[in-house]
Amino acid sequence: MKIIIAKNAGFCFGVQRAIDMINDLPNKYPDKKIYLFREIIHNSQEVKRLQEKGMHIIYDLNKIENDSIVVVSTHGITPDELEILKKRKIILVDTTCPYVKKIHNIAEYLSSNNYDILIIGDKHHLEVRGIIGYCHGRSKVASSFSEIKNMKLGNKIGIIAQTTQNIDNYKKIIFNIIDKLFIKTKQMEIRIFNTICDATYNRQKETIKIAKKSDVVIIIGGRNSANTKRLYELSKNILKSVYLIKNASEIKKRWFTNKKIIGISAGASTPHWIIQDVIKKIKELNV
Ligand code: SF4
Repeated sequence: MKIIIAKNAGFCFGVQRAIDMINDLPNKYPDKKIYLFREIIHNSQEVKRLQEKGMHIIYDLNKIENDSIVVVSTHGITPDELEILKKRKIILVDTTCPYVKKIHNIAEYLSSNNYDILIIGDKHHLEVRGIIGYCHGRSKVASSFSEIKNMKLGNKIGIIAQTTQNIDNYKKIIFNIIDKLFIKTKQMEIRIFNTICDATYNRQKETIKIAKKSDVVIIIGGRNSANTKRLYELSKNILKSVYLIKNASEIKKRWFTNKKIIGISAGASTPHWIIQDVIKKIKELNV
C-alpha cells in the first residue's frame, strides 16, 4: 500500500492567518469575553478547540456585550454588519481573508460604477452573503449557466467568483455567457474578474493529479466546508472510490480492500493533526 498526501492539504494561508490572530486572545485579554461571530472556519473540531479556550460562538450581533472582543470570520461580513460592530464599544478582530476583501473592493467598485454584478457561487454561503452586501442591491448569484440564461441582466455586467469555485466551472459559465448572451444583447459590456484564490486553485489542481494516480481517495474536512466539498466532487469525477471524512473515526477498512494507492487531500480548514490522525489510522489498518 502506498499513500500519497497532497502537499497543499490542510490550513490555507487565510485560515492559518485567522487562527494566528485569535489563538492568543484569551491570554492577552483574560478579563474579556471573546465572541466568534458565526463559525470562524468550517471545521467543527477546530471550532470546538477554540470554544474550549473560552471563546463563544454568537449569531446575533444584538447579544454581544460591551467591552468584549468580537472576531469576524475568514468569510467576511456585510458592510452593514461591520458598521454595527464599529459603533459598539468592543475590540474588533477582523480575520476576513485578504482574498475575500479583494472581492469586496471589486464589488464596491462595480456597484458604484453602475454594473450589475453576477456572483458565481453558493448564495447560502457566508462568504457570498458578505459579498452580496458590498454589491448594494446590484447582485445576482448563480452556480451554473442554466440559472443565468433567463436572468434579466443590465447592459453593464461585472462577473466575480466565490473564492472556492472551480476554475473550469467558472470558465465554462463565462464562455456560455459570451457565446449565448453577449451576441444577443448588442450593448452589453462584460467585465470578468478571476477572484478564485490561489490556495483553492493549487489545492484543486494537486487533488485532481493525485486522484488520477490513486485507487482510492480520502478527502478530509468539514461537510459544511465549500472548498472541501469541491475537492470531493472533483475527485469523484475521476474515480468512484472517493470518501469525504471529518476525521479518522469515520474510516472503514473495507474501502481499502485490493487498493494499492491511497490518495489523501484535505480542505483549507482542516487542521494538520486531523490529517496526521487519518494517515496513522490508515497505516494501522495494515491493508
Ligand atoms: S480558501 Fe482562499 S479565500 Fe478562503 S481563507 Fe483560504 S486563502 Fe482565503
